[in-house]
Amino acid sequence: MLKVLGKIGLLAPAFAVGAAWLVVLRMKDVPVPLLVAYGLLLAGAVVGLLWPGVFGRPATRRRVPAYLGVLAGLGTLGLYLAVVYYVTDLPVLLALAAVACLVWAAAAFLRGRRAAGGREARSTRRAFLSGGAGLVLGALGVLSVDRVERQRREVLARGEQERRAAVRAPGARRRIDDGAVRVFPIHTGDTIVTYGQFYGGLDGWEGLNGYLRTLVDKAQIAVPVFAYLIDHPRHGLLLVDSGVNWEQAHDHDGYYNHNQMVSRLLTQRDEYRLTPDQDLRVRLARLGYDAREITTVFLTHVHDDHAGGLRGLPQATVVLDRRDWEHGTVYPYSFDLVKDNLSFPAFDSGAFGPFPAAQDHFGDGSLVLLPTPGHSPGHMCVLLRLDSGSVLFMGDTLYTLPHLATDQVRQMTIGGVDTTRQLEAARRIQSLLAADPATVPLFAHDNTRYQSGLVASAFAHGTPGEEGVRELRRYMESVLTPGWRLRPGHTPHFVPPPSGADLGRVEFR
Ligand SMILES: [Zn+2]
Repeated sequence: MLKVLGKIGLLAPAFAVGAAWLVVLRMKDVPVPLLVAYGLLLAGAVVGLLWPGVFGRPATRRRVPAYLGVLAGLGTLGLYLAVVYYVTDLPVLLALAAVACLVWAAAAFLRGRRAAGGREARSTRRAFLSGGAGLVLGALGVLSVDRVERQRREVLARGEQERRAAVRAPGARRRIDDGAVRVFPIHTGDTIVTYGQFYGGLDGWEGLNGYLRTLVDKAQIAVPVFAYLIDHPRHGLLLVDSGVNWEQAHDHDGYYNHNQMVSRLLTQRDEYRLTPDQDLRVRLARLGYDAREITTVFLTHVHDDHAGGLRGLPQATVVLDRRDWEHGTVYPYSFDLVKDNLSFPAFDSGAFGPFPAAQDHFGDGSLVLLPTPGHSPGHMCVLLRLDSGSVLFMGDTLYTLPHLATDQVRQMTIGGVDTTRQLEAARRIQSLLAADPATVPLFAHDNTRYQSGLVASAFAHGTPGEEGVRELRRYMESVLTPGWRLRPGHTPHFVPPPSGADLGRVEFR
């Protein structure tokens, strides 16, 4: 009786772990028939181990569970590699086959040593045959690794070539040195997110629940990633955020090999898209600048769609909130070349409007760093004085203009405390904007007409002028009431993708 209870006690957690693993595999789009076969194999192996009696005669009792166990083990290894490393290609399959042959050979060899006469010879022959096959398959596997790696390098080299050609291509804008502060929005690729993560903070995408939903909800949209170049007559060339890097978008396997396994297990395969033209270095060249001239990058936070471009700016000083750095970067690869050039603001310049602490970075009021934790533990916004007003770089505090209506549109934050601080930051931003009609917000992911129409044209030459600033504010007031509510026609809705496509889009109604 106790023995049976003990076995059931073992069985329950085994099935729970197995079921969770199958759910993860399903989320990673492993086909259902394959999952059913694999699940039966796992169940057979576990039941066979605990109750060998179910497999009939004593002779088969031990063998059947052992075979099932080996197959289930190999299947688990293969699926794990496939979903964590996205390796379903030749080297892994060959390596798995080689391991199977070698295990078989070892078993046959051991059996042969215990047996006698004709059976011994048969077993030894089998051991040699399967051992040989294993070695051949292993050698083929090693050779194919080299081939696959060569292909990967070729793709990267082609990308580098395209990028260099794009940097050199004619048509670059002439730089104008007339003493004006200039700001250029730089569209550095797109990121694929679930609609709910982006807009669903008030529809159940909160805290842990929101995080779990990102794993199963496939309602996805592509949103732009913006960095901003500042050409400052006194302070040189500066950047706010740095966008996505080439490897992130084009060498997913290589890139995420630098990453922790858990996050690879749970994130989507293609988070980013970047055309050669959207590479930060190419965009800068188009505007008449050289990436090597950038002296300082103000990083609103460490998330990867903001830090990726640091790979192309090894000379730059990177200014970011210490709390974000100490909390840890998700993808350290982006920081590899700049981790000795970090600078942490002390936020000791006193209060700034609704913000109790701030950092007047250059000491002349031209650029102020404002702590806005919430989206990440050390998120900050950047306020820059122009000749015609000010711009407020929002980072991810609020993704888009409609997000300023914090009671109607909200992005996901992780954990209740973060949501509270996020809202606190948003309220401070609202009162900063309300107090100064010559301040305009610039977003990192705005996918509305504000960015694609208004901001793009106001900053086409870097200097919006007083009229440009007024126009942006007028548009803002046509979207939002003074009480920060959306006017009709500006509430986001998800439009599902047409059949065959995998990305939906956002409509404002
Ligand atoms: Zn972020």
